[in-house]
Amino acid sequence: MKIYLEITELLSEADSLILQPLSMRVEVIDRDDALAKLLILEPFFAGRIYKKQLHFCGHAEGLPCTTEEVL
Ligand SMILES: [Zn+2]
Repeated sequence: MKIYLEITELLSEADSLILQPLSMRVEVIDRDDALAKLLILEPFFAGRIYKKQLHFCGHAEGLPCTTEEVL
């Protein structure tokens, strides 16, 4: 199962009409790897409102995907 770290900017309704949210998705090995990559990627989101989640992707195995918020 592949695991992705996903960071997605949350735009207000008004902003979402004119802007594309900033989002990043990187493959990680495990939670520790995700936290290490978060240290590198999170500064790009400084000053923005965003959510961080781990995406446990079962796509290749025909399984459902689950996500888990990273706090
Ligand atoms: Zn998936």
